[in-house]
This record gives sequence, structure tokens and C-alpha cells, in this order.
Amino acid sequence: MAFESLTDRLAGVFKKLRGHGKLSEADIKAAMREVRMALLEADVNYKVAKDFCAKVSERAMGQEVMESLTPAQQVVKIVNEELTALMGGEEAARVQLKSKGQTVLMLCGLQGNGKTTHAAKLAKYYIKQGHHPLLVACDIYRPAAIEQLKVVGGQAGAPVFVLEGEKPPVIAQKALSYARDRGYDIVILDTAGRLQIDDVLMQELVQIKERVEVDETLLVVDAMAGQDAVNVARTFHEKVGIDGIILTKTDGDTRGGAALSVLAVTGKPIKFQGVGEKLDDLEVFHPARMASRILGMGDVLSLIEKAQENADEKLAEETARRMMENKFDMNDMLAQFAQIKKMGGASAMLSMMPGGAGIDPSQVDEKSLARIEAIILSMTPAEREKPEIINPKRKRRIAAGSGTRVEDVNKLLRQFEMMQKMMKQLKKSPKGFARRLSGM
Ligand code: GDP
Repeated sequence: MAFESLTDRLAGVFKKLRGHGKLSEADIKAAMREVRMALLEADVNYKVAKDFCAKVSERAMGQEVMESLTPAQQVVKIVNEELTALMGGEEAARVQLKSKGQTVLMLCGLQGNGKTTHAAKLAKYYIKQGHHPLLVACDIYRPAAIEQLKVVGGQAGAPVFVLEGEKPPVIAQKALSYARDRGYDIVILDTAGRLQIDDVLMQELVQIKERVEVDETLLVVDAMAGQDAVNVARTFHEKVGIDGIILTKTDGDTRGGAALSVLAVTGKPIKFQGVGEKLDDLEVFHPARMASRILGMGDVLSLIEKAQENADEKLAEETARRMMENKFDMNDMLAQFAQIKKMGGASAMLSMMPGGAGIDPSQVDEKSLARIEAIILSMTPAEREKPEIINPKRKRRIAAGSGTRVEDVNKLLRQFEMMQKMMKQLKKSPKGFARRLSGM
């Protein structure tokens, strides 16, 4: 799961701090050294990590923390705020669409980073909002790329403009007039990718921009490439000029370096993130939510949003309410199962829950979803409400009834207990919870 080791490392630093009661300057210094190490290990750019820790230290040495009754918590709060700032601040950076005429989005990036997939994801994202996007095949060098765009475009429900025998700048220009004539309001250019940065490729992108008025140039970079991704972004920005970044594969085993460094290094924000291979796996990038996810505080807002997007609204609201009131039990979980599947599976959902980041995703991967469902189905409604009443004999029965092993039942119960504990902790501090909800 993404950011897992960074999350663990930071949790370790904060745990140590909490053990200290009042904090001395030396405590904070030691903690910041560890935070810096954790960031470097997560492949964050060296200067970014250094500046970040300097900023946090300065604030943490201030009165606000030293005189606080809960200094460790204050430090966590500062780290959260600074992580948010590092990735762009409270407000998500969004692609600006024109209210009239065609908005032209040019996607560029290295091969294999997810450009074509994200062209289609964007098309689908805008179709859901009532727009009429047109996909344009500007990667004329690889016939397979055009075919791929046609396939994913078809899946997204967006037409694909293909023009053989022309150069990409001309294709872009003709696509734009085609869009104008037929009333498409968003034109998404899927440009050629290369294995490495090369000048011919850059030149071609510049030429497209000279031919048509590109409203946003979006660079598609693979989060798993860490600092390499950041260097690629810097070069693209210097040579072509970009307006924003689509960070892909954040669902993978990324350490976080790219997400945390790219804005500081290029001055350009991440606007979207890819969270899976499916066309629905695209999210607006919210720095505050990402920060609290990295800190293992969950991302309740994204969870609620996802629920609203995919589930029937009443159920989503009820679930969100029960979660906040700490009443979410296994009956709810069962009722949510169909929705959970729609929301990208249990591991995706758990990763967004407070404390969920601490759960081993291999224990809740998509394959075990059916098993979990079977286990819960074998419980009585009363047991689902209060799993603690389940005794060893019942555990054996439940395992037999669901075709699983007692270990599986135990595992699920432990995970659920962990989740409830985290929710309880949040409930104890409603102010903190509200702050987290608003991204602090
Ligand atoms: P392009 O060469 O840049 O156009 O890259 P593609 O769009 O062909 O994507 C390369 C591979 O990455 C494909 O197998 C995609 O399914 C996969 N991919 C793209 N975006 C994501 C993502 O957000 N998450 C995951 N897990 N895989 C992705």
C-alpha cells in the first residue's frame, strides 16, 4: 500500500515524542532528524526534506508547542499542516475549464507512466460531469498506442479523433476544429511518449502548443518513480512548460517521494491522482487529505465522497453518520459490501479510514473480500453489532458456516476491533476530529 513505510516511520517518531511529556529542544531536534531520515527514505528530494524539517522545527520550538499540555500532538499538527502546504495547501488545484468554447488539455509524459489510460480516465471523469470530451490520438509513432486509445476511449464512452498521415500539431489543430463543429467542449490530446526524455519529443510538444491554444499542459508521472519522476517533471517544465501534474499509480507501492517533492521542485501542483487501473480510478488531488493519509489519520472525506459517488446517497449518509458516531458495526459493513466493491474494494476503503493504514492490505485484498463477506454472513445480527460476544465455540461455528478457518474469523475480528478503536479515539477528541474532517 502506498506510503506505508513513511506512515509507519512517522508514527514511530510521534510515539516516541508522546512518551516524553514536556518536550525539550533536544527532543524536537532528535525527532526532526528522524522525520528527515523518514522523508529521505521515502525518496523525497534532499532539499525539500531539509527545508521541511527546518520549517517544522522552527514552529515546534515556539511557545505554542513548548508550553502546550499536549506538545507531541502539537508537533503532529504542525507536521500535518506543513505536509499539506508542501503539496499545495488547503485548496485542491483544479483544471480550469472554459465556460465557452473548447478547453484543450494536452497530456504528456514518458511511456508507461499512464498517459493513455489517464486520457481516458479524464474523459470519463468529465463525461460524468455532463461534458462532451473528444480524445485525440497524437501519438502517431506507435500504432499500438492509437489502438489502445481507441479501446480505452470506447470504454470511457468518448470518441477518439484519429488522422493518418499528418504530424501531431496538425492533428491537434484539425481535432480542435472538429470539436468546434460538433460541439465537444473538452479536447484531450494524448501525445507521444518516449522511454526517456528526448529533444525531438519536447520539440513536438512545443510545436503543438504553437499551433493550438493549449489551456492546460498536464504531465503524467508515475508516483512509483519517486525522485526520477520529479526530475522528469522539472525537465518537462523547463522545456515545454506544464500547468499541472497527474500523479499515477498512487495505489501502488510508492514511497511518497514524488507526491511530496514535485510541487516544491517544479512549482506546479498535482491536480489529479491515479489510484488504480480502472477508468474510474481517478481522483482530484487534495493535499490536506493526502497529508492526513500519510500521517495515518485516514481520509474520511474522500471516503464519504466515494460513497456518495457510487452508493445510494441515503445509505452513504447513514454510514458516514454512524462512522462519526462510532456506531459503525458489522451489520453496516455487510450492508455496505456491494458498495465497498464499487468503491475499489475493501483495501482501498480501509486505507482511507483512520487507522486503516495500519492494516495489512494482504489481509483484506480483493480476493478475501468474498471470504470476509461469508464470515460476516455466518454471524447473527447481534454478533455483527457486538462482535465481542462471539465466544470460541461460535467462532468455530462461524468458520464452519462460512467455509473458512477460525484464524480467518479471528483476523477479521481483530481488524474490526482496531478500526473501532481508532474511531473511538477520534470521538474522544471531537475538536480534533472536526479539524481532521476539514483537513486541519
Ligand atoms: P502510457 O504509455 O503512458 O500511455 O501508459 P499507459 O496508459 O499505457 O499505462 C501503462 C500501464 O500502467 C498500464 O498497464 C495501465 O493499466 C497502468 N496504469 C495506469 N495508471 C495506473 C494507476 O493509476 N494505477 C495502476 N495500478 N496502474 C495504472
